[in-house]
Amino acid sequence: MNKKRIAIIGAGPSGLAQLRAFEALQNEGEEIPEIVCFEKQNNWGGMWNYSWRTGVGKYGEPIHGSMYKYLWSNGPKECLEFSDYSFDEHFKKPISSYPPRPVLFDYIQGRIKKSKARDYIRFNTTARWVSFDDRTEKFTLVLDDLKIDKTYSEEFDYLIVASGHFSTPNMPYFKGIENFPGTVMHAHDFRGADQFKGQNLLLIGSSYSAEDIGVQCHKHGAESVTLSYRSSPIGVQWPEGIKEVPLLTHFEGNTAFFKDGTSEEFDAVIMCTGYQHKFPFLPDELRLKTKNNLYPDNLYKGIFFNRLPQLIYLGMQDQYYTFNMFDAQAWVARDYMMDRLKLPKEDERRIDINNWLEKNDALKTSFDHVDFQSDYIKDLLLLSDYPDFNVDKVAEMFKSWLNDKDENILTYRDKTYQSVVTGTMAAEHHTEWMDELDDSKERYLYEPEEEEMIPERI
Ligand code: FAD
Ligand code: NAP
Ligand code: MG
Repeated sequence: MNKKRIAIIGAGPSGLAQLRAFEALQNEGEEIPEIVCFEKQNNWGGMWNYSWRTGVGKYGEPIHGSMYKYLWSNGPKECLEFSDYSFDEHFKKPISSYPPRPVLFDYIQGRIKKSKARDYIRFNTTARWVSFDDRTEKFTLVLDDLKIDKTYSEEFDYLIVASGHFSTPNMPYFKGIENFPGTVMHAHDFRGADQFKGQNLLLIGSSYSAEDIGVQCHKHGAESVTLSYRSSPIGVQWPEGIKEVPLLTHFEGNTAFFKDGTSEEFDAVIMCTGYQHKFPFLPDELRLKTKNNLYPDNLYKGIFFNRLPQLIYLGMQDQYYTFNMFDAQAWVARDYMMDRLKLPKEDERRIDINNWLEKNDALKTSFDHVDFQSDYIKDLLLLSDYPDFNVDKVAEMFKSWLNDKDENILTYRDKTYQSVVTGTMAAEHHTEWMDELDDSKERYLYEPEEEEMIPERI
């Protein structure tokens, strides 16, 4: 019998969630379809697989990574914990609520390393083009094996797009920027705060990248950080050295002019202006076209391309929930591909999508956003046997995290939260976040003797 074939594009947290979902079935003794996961990088982990490179990689492909040195989780880890693989199971001891990137990368790998998942992944392989044949109902993928510089194609019954959407910069133009004498970069190319020590920085944007890159640069010794917002300021209590101003209008030399009539000189500009959903391997009619929001249109249950549900997108939402949301999505996608879950007809799916879009439109506050994505997760959990977790409690943690940030943007990462998977209370990190300049796993997991404890910050 011919096995169904499934292609996954991307081996980041979303693609790996899909592999894990099938593995869980296999462990129950079920036969699974043939799966091939294509990953253009030489390792898995997606964004969490740190790249020091910017621009293009070894083989001339655009660099995927947007993460940087000294990146720490910007939400409590208890809000993203896999419900089938706890932090306790991985680290064998309680750890703090806000681990640095290498520690989360280690956790992501831990779950999948024990399985045969790696055998399903073709690394250094870029999905170059996709077409769908209405008659045979199959996808043809054109693939580039980067290492041997060879192009080939293969057919599949299902296509999972798990290529992420925080990689292609949205780069606006401001008059005079071409003559700005200092560094101008997008957050995508930011690799660490060191080079901005002693500088006066202008960051454009008022979301997570602006907030975190601003705080990182402040922590690592920038002279001043100015954040310029378009719609609304981040609005937390900023420490001395960080401030928010209205939108930039133009530059004259190294002087920036703002909407409120003020102006100031800067050494460098970082555009924290978000990313584009970009799928250069998909033809127009299969492409998801959306801005970064909590419910992209045309995706039933947030994953099935409504016109052609054999095409499944994972992780395309703006994200409060991350790893556990990708899991919940991947389990539902798996059950559909295994014929365990029947989808309603296209027009009924459209009604369901519209309901979510209407609700999304009515959201006002950040708390509303958290509740909306929590409701979405609950809806997904009803559809599959992905281990249930207490979504309401996670929603509470998100709200408390938002309050923590409002209270003190420099110390919120010192707070601790309780796991909904194991009930374990997070440990306090041995060093306050503002004093911790080393983000390595070794340093993070190190347990200092009592007398070695680093003194409190003055
Ligand atoms: P990605 O992680 O982006 O992975 C997509 C994969 O697809 C990549 O490996 C890429 O190489 C591959 N790919 C793309 N195109 C192709 C192609 N044509 N062919 C083959 N392979 C391809 N989330 C949190 O929970 N906590 C955080 O602290 C946090 N910090 C973040 C910081 C930054 C700067 C950014 C940008 C994001 C952050 N996120 C954070 C969100 C992050 O995007 C998710 O945690 C997660 O990485 C998304 O997983 P993904 O698999 O959907 O996409
Ligand atoms: P984002 O959330 O999509 O925000 C984009 C920002 O750019 C918005 O503030 C938007 O303003 C602004 N913007 C867009 N076009 C603009 C223009 N022409 N002029 C001025 N401003 C403009 O993108 P992001 O902040 O890069 O975050 C992406 C992801 O990375 C998130 O998931 C986040 O969690 C993650 N991240 C995590 C960390 C961490 O610490 N772990 C650090 C950085 C990023 P409007 O509001 O006006 O639209
Ligand atoms: Mg369930």
